[in-house]
Amino acid sequence: MHEFKYIHKQLYCEKLKVAGLAEKFGTPLYVYSYDTLVGHFLKLKEAFKSIKPLICYSVKANSNLAILRALVNQGAGLDIVSGGELFRARRAGCPANRIVYASVGKTDYEIKEAIKSGIFFFNVESFPELKNIQHIARRLKRRVNVALRINPDVEPKTHKYITTGKLTNKFGIDFQSAKRIILLARGFSHVKISGLHIHIGSQITTPEPFVAAITRIIRFILVLKKEGIALEYLNIGGGLGIIYDRETPQTAARFAARILPLLKKSGLKIIMEPGRFIAGNAGILVTKVLYVKNTPKKKFIIVDAGMNDLIRPALYDAYHNIVPLQRTENRKQEAEKADIVGPICESGDFLAKERIVPNLEEGDYLAVMGAGAYGFSMASNYNSRRRPQEVLVNKDKVSVIRKRESYKDLIRNEL
Ligand SMILES: *Cc1c(COP(=O)(O)O)cnc(C)c1O
Repeated sequence: MHEFKYIHKQLYCEKLKVAGLAEKFGTPLYVYSYDTLVGHFLKLKEAFKSIKPLICYSVKANSNLAILRALVNQGAGLDIVSGGELFRARRAGCPANRIVYASVGKTDYEIKEAIKSGIFFFNVESFPELKNIQHIARRLKRRVNVALRINPDVEPKTHKYITTGKLTNKFGIDFQSAKRIILLARGFSHVKISGLHIHIGSQITTPEPFVAAITRIIRFILVLKKEGIALEYLNIGGGLGIIYDRETPQTAARFAARILPLLKKSGLKIIMEPGRFIAGNAGILVTKVLYVKNTPKKKFIIVDAGMNDLIRPALYDAYHNIVPLQRTENRKQEAEKADIVGPICESGDFLAKERIVPNLEEGDYLAVMGAGAYGFSMASNYNSRRRPQEVLVNKDKVSVIRKRESYKDLIRNEL
């Protein structure tokens, strides 16, 4: 499922030439493929159809309303991590009973809004948080569903900033404390602990960490059963990796083949929260070469997209494939090593380091591949740069789903 491909040496998104979009809308520009986005969701749904899980797309991966709507219309629920994401989820028309809410730091205001909108689950990350939710729910005279987020202490073998299931991470609750909390919470009048939640990290490319975590969870479910506690839901979180470079990540089908038997064994209804797997390869960031700068030590390709537009390389040392929109042969393809850098005043402002690139010239367009997840959603206005425009392509139609910001937008809230 990849709707970005070359036809006659031109990069296309579905049926449209990406260079045409760059000319029409300017750069930097995020371009998303509707088919790829929805296709990934449907593949996952198909792979797990024997257990009919609730698939809650993780909003923070790419939170544009049009992206959310496209998925919600296909039956997706949404996984949110803030009041702002709750607002987006509701605006996107997501039924409240398909919204699950995780975060180690939910404020009273956020909890209140989520209870009032009647979300499906709070994924609770500590005992103080549980007590607070009980307190607020009682005031609102509502009973709420809670899944305890368990920290299963497994090593997901991914970047340390996106590892979340080790006991040294701030997320979730260890098994022993979880058991104590579940027993205590039987006396709570307005929260019902009816599920367990895990989310062990992101960009995980092998099934083993998932298998390890779910195996531990199943053991824990049995321990609870012996105490007379029956749960209804298991939320296995997100974290499925995608191809950025030469990884061989799991397809939905291979992932399902490994974990379906375990999920069935749990005896619980399943929720999952994929983000990157759905949106990652559905988007690219298009940028234009401004200058080619040769120094005695290095060659720099200076482009008009910076770390404010796509922070993953700077933040995680992430690899993104970068390709020209137009492949040429008449130009000498003397491939050379260069750093592809943005205009921002930071040495961390790079999209690629020591990358073999064809001989590029000023005005050439490049596509940063795999930028659909944690791309725009992490964009900022650093250096007073306007955040880029986003467009969504569906076959031969393109819609602007977010306008480029204006200079006025930059100072809108300043007094
Ligand atoms: C970020 C996040 C996800 C999604 O992670 P991906 O790696 O994008 O699939 C799912 N669940 C929770 C709780 C998260 O914080």
